Amino acid sequence: MKRASLTLVPSAAAAIAAHAEATYPDECVGLLLGRLEGTRKLVVEAFPVENRWNGQVQLSPNDDPTSRRDRFYLDPRDYLRADRAAMARGLEIVGCYHSHPDAPATPSERDRVGAQAIGGSAFAFVIQAVRQGHAAEVTSWLLVDSGARFEAEVVAIADDLNESEPG
Ligand SMILES: [Zn+2]
Repeated sequence: MKRASLTLVPSAAAAIAAHAEATYPDECVGLLLGRLEGTRKLVVEAFPVENRWNGQVQLSPNDDPTSRRDRFYLDPRDYLRADRAAMARGLEIVGCYHSHPDAPATPSERDRVGAQAIGGSAFAFVIQAVRQGHAAEVTSWLLVDSGARFEAEVVAIADDLNESEPG
């Protein structure tokens, strides 16, 4: 079986990094528009959305429910907006991204729970680490074993991608 991979065009990678730095120390969130070819995904554009975590859910007794520093909420209305934007460009939503301010780019248990209702089996969960306000490493994850765990996929930045290529 071919290993799943995600390739970002440089402008999309830069947009994710910029968004993550702009919302620091809160988490940013957005969708990834591109093309899906089997287990390979190409991200052509980042579609930033607002982190609409509304603070109505307290996850543990000492949890600050209004904090957006370690959680995000992807609103279905934003998902639809992104879907329309993707269709208009002949693209599809191939994943989503969010940032981890001052934390490693590995999914949290909270991420796993929140990811359950989102996307299909190839849907990428990209995490952009931010250290002291500066964008750091990027990882991408697939939800596997019926949502029981995340598995890392290969992430690449396209150096020279011919965007005029049909298809
Ligand atoms: Zn997370």
